[in-house]
Amino acid sequence: MKYKCFGTGSKGNLHRLSHNERYVYLDAGLAFPRFKESCGWQLDKVDFVALTHGHVDHGKCFEDIKKAGIPTISPPIDDWESTQTEFEIGDWKIKAWDVEHDVRNWAYLLYHKPTKHKTAYMTDFSYTKLVPATVDTLILEISYIDDIIESKQNELGDRYLRLVKYHNSLRRAKELLQKMMDSEGYKLKNLIICHLSDRNSDAERIKQELFELTGIMPVIADKGTEVELT
Ligand SMILES: [Zn+2]
Repeated sequence: MKYKCFGTGSKGNLHRLSHNERYVYLDAGLAFPRFKESCGWQLDKVDFVALTHGHVDHGKCFEDIKKAGIPTISPPIDDWESTQTEFEIGDWKIKAWDVEHDVRNWAYLLYHKPTKHKTAYMTDFSYTKLVPATVDTLILEISYIDDIIESKQNELGDRYLRLVKYHNSLRRAKELLQKMMDSEGYKLKNLIICHLSDRNSDAERIKQELFELTGIMPVIADKGTEVELT
């Protein structure tokens, strides 16, 4: 299983898992021509695209993808009663769950049957009820570091509250990872951190603190980052 990042953060989020030339995309936050380019203009290689939520930096080309006939999964925004949160597409079993954001937002658990590889993707959230304890790979937002934004509350104004209420921080990431480590079946091997804010985070510090906690050296995702998932 391979991971590639085509974009992350406010400029647009597009992540890909691939195995034997079959592709799964997480979010669709780039323009459609760039999406097509990312799969070598071979849309038939895409098994599905899973959208977390409708903000433009995540969903910019989602409608184009749907129109192109590619299978998609997204939270039923107009239908809170919908109970379907488990899906099966090709070689994949997918489970979605609600996480706290300012619009309805799903996190995903993705199980690839042939390789038994389990991945979770969690972005743009401040709280998750479910802890994906037994994944091999975690792709996780850390938008900001708590003490960095606490030290400039006045300068950030409303943005401060937005970050705290709707985005994930280093402190919360460590709490989540600690819960995972305390759970039965914990086996995390690949930790990919995405959606860093330019001004309110610090990639080196995130790497160091998460390495100290988990013993796994995290990869900070940026455009072009590729990881061979073990
Ligand atoms: Zn968002």
